[in-house]
Amino acid sequence: MTNSERKIYCFLGLPASGKGTQVEIFAKERKTKSFGMGDLIRAEIESADLSDPFYKKMKEEYDKGNPQPDSIAIDLVQKCLEYSTGTVILDNFPFSTKQAEMFFEACRALHIVKPCLIIVNVSKEEALTRAMKRKVCSGCGSIYVGSEENICSKCGAALITRADDNESTVATRLDKYIPRIDEVRKVFLSKGIVLEINGEQSIEGVASEIALKVSEV
Ligand SMILES: [Zn+2]
Repeated sequence: MTNSERKIYCFLGLPASGKGTQVEIFAKERKTKSFGMGDLIRAEIESADLSDPFYKKMKEEYDKGNPQPDSIAIDLVQKCLEYSTGTVILDNFPFSTKQAEMFFEACRALHIVKPCLIIVNVSKEEALTRAMKRKVCSGCGSIYVGSEENICSKCGAALITRADDNESTVATRLDKYIPRIDEVRKVFLSKGIVLEINGEQSIEGVASEIALKVSEV
């Protein structure tokens, strides 16, 4: 496959939009895996010499849960695009106008044409309602929405409500996401492809809408 035939898919969605689940389904259907910024940073740190101040800093920021600077984020994505040969699925990237502009430059340099942004849309109210009903497994991190269970069906560990899932912190988080998604959408509308997906339907419904719209581009 030449680079100009390669498909690059970027997924964005509000927290609790179900985007993560859809990324998993989409990647599985294409027999590939997805990359989130956390995956790329972990891989980089694992192979890095941590006595190097650059990587030391990267690890410190990662351990604190801080986002990496745009220049590092785009470097990691660029490496990922260079080293992978087929379809690449990026989860929650790009996440700002600057990242999106740099991402298109990286694609152009690699002769990758028309990357595709898939946005799993839910209203702010829906995202808020879902987030408040969400439990996270303390063992494997699986997310349960609206479940009455207190034990994870995958690993048997306890399900907990995340400490930061109270209404005002969730609302604040959503208010940060919404303009970011709008920014990135704008860049893709002028340079790439944007697929708007209705996230307020069943998991299967969302998955088939994505599959259909992807097959039409
Ligand atoms: Zn679990």
